Amino acid sequence: MSTSKHPKGLYLIFATSTAERFSYYGMRAIFILFLTQALLFDKEHAASIYGSYTGLVYLTPLIGGYIADKYWGIRRSVFWGAMMMAVGQFLMFFSASMLDTKELSHWLMYGGLTFLILGNGCFKPTVSSIVGQLYEPGDKRLDSAYTIFYMGVNVGSFFAPLVCGYFGETGNPHDFKWGFLIAAIVTILTVVLFETQKNKYLIGPDGKPLGIIPDAKREQPEESKTSQRKTAMDREKKFRNNLFLGVLAVALVLFFYWCFGNDWVSIGIFTACIIFPVNILLDGSLTKIERDRIFVIYIIAFFVIFFWAAYEQAGASLTLFAAEQTDRVIFGWEMPASWIQSFNPFFVVILAAIMPGVWGALNKRGMEPASPTKQAIGLLLLSLGYLVICFGVKDVQPGIKVSLIWLTGLYFIHTMGEITLSPIGLSMVNKLTPVRFASLMMGIWYLSTSTANKFAGILGGLYPEPGKVKTLLGYPIENMFDFFMMFVLMSGVASLILFLLSKKLQKMMHGVE
Ligand code: GLN
Repeated sequence: MSTSKHPKGLYLIFATSTAERFSYYGMRAIFILFLTQALLFDKEHAASIYGSYTGLVYLTPLIGGYIADKYWGIRRSVFWGAMMMAVGQFLMFFSASMLDTKELSHWLMYGGLTFLILGNGCFKPTVSSIVGQLYEPGDKRLDSAYTIFYMGVNVGSFFAPLVCGYFGETGNPHDFKWGFLIAAIVTILTVVLFETQKNKYLIGPDGKPLGIIPDAKREQPEESKTSQRKTAMDREKKFRNNLFLGVLAVALVLFFYWCFGNDWVSIGIFTACIIFPVNILLDGSLTKIERDRIFVIYIIAFFVIFFWAAYEQAGASLTLFAAEQTDRVIFGWEMPASWIQSFNPFFVVILAAIMPGVWGALNKRGMEPASPTKQAIGLLLLSLGYLVICFGVKDVQPGIKVSLIWLTGLYFIHTMGEITLSPIGLSMVNKLTPVRFASLMMGIWYLSTSTANKFAGILGGLYPEPGKVKTLLGYPIENMFDFFMMFVLMSGVASLILFLLSKKLQKMMHGVE
């Protein structure tokens, strides 16, 4: 992976993402506290709203990606995405300002979440896919470009909880509004930054402006170049495909309804997870090579679900562990449990600075692993992180707190895994996808985060509680060791299978590294 000079557009995307992620994570840091302490929801209801929100923000990139590829183009999608998010953050601010009129503040909160979910859907996949379009296909700098982009994302994620938490979480429920207001103002700054700089910096390697016309128009598939007129046969095929998708969707909804009851968010996420990927595969314009490459993305995206499901314990069960069972006193001062969530973005920023160099050095020796292998290494590191903490909690009596060293070690190893898997995954999706599906495929990639967030909630529910019997596949989860071991095994097995598949996957990538 080369680290040589990057186009200036990358730094515009870096700054735009820093600002946008600041507002996303700033709002998220105080959201569950706002629900329980200001709107006075009980913990279970609040956790379910939180879970649905974090699941849905990663579901809508599918729709946003589709609209961007087909109708709007990336620039317009980024603009409207950020605008909708700004409206969402302001609605959150108004909700937190009207705590005395309970019903109104609830409605404003739900309205705010809706705008945030839709806005993120338009913003996240498009801003992620435009990074790759700044480079020629096959450019060796792409992995390092995505790692730099990822660093930008995490600069925002690091500062946001500290700032929004400082002003919003004061112990007085009326102060939450300041946290939301800061997030709203920063979202407006995102729009201003992008709109004022885009013409100057968003230029493709051919010198032409990027993201103005939809990608579907930029890259006409070979077939439709030769025969523009739709034949009756095409129409019939399309009708058959749509009928098939319709029947499949109904069958899946019924099946998931049977699995989850009327948890419509889960039903929607899991159904979309199958329908959208199948829909792309049915697209008649795909060549055999394009189809193989898309298959690689699907297979890896499936394994990546296990990464994020274990990793996303950070916001819930690992924070409970930090609060209840970790000794956070440093030189007489007790660190707030929520601060431990800033460890991860902090480590990302440091490791993102180092990793391009490490890959570059390995590359020179001909030892740089291929993208699927890097995903497997990421999963392995996740498993190792949980293994480390298993040592920390083994033989510890209930009620005794363990050293902060264990959680710090876990987060450091997890972040090493994240930096090996996540930016490289984005880069890989970009390299393997035909331009006309660029943003939509990013949406599909983010679908694994959406599914994982839901799955993480289910697994997090197994967090051991005195007096409650919890089991997984018949095995009891009686203490923290059992709980963490579950993640060691889950990500370890996923990693092993992916290692075994990686040679085959590499072949299916047809020359893309
Ligand atoms: N922290 C990253 C971000 O916010 C991770 C996203 C993901 O794919 N889960 O972009």
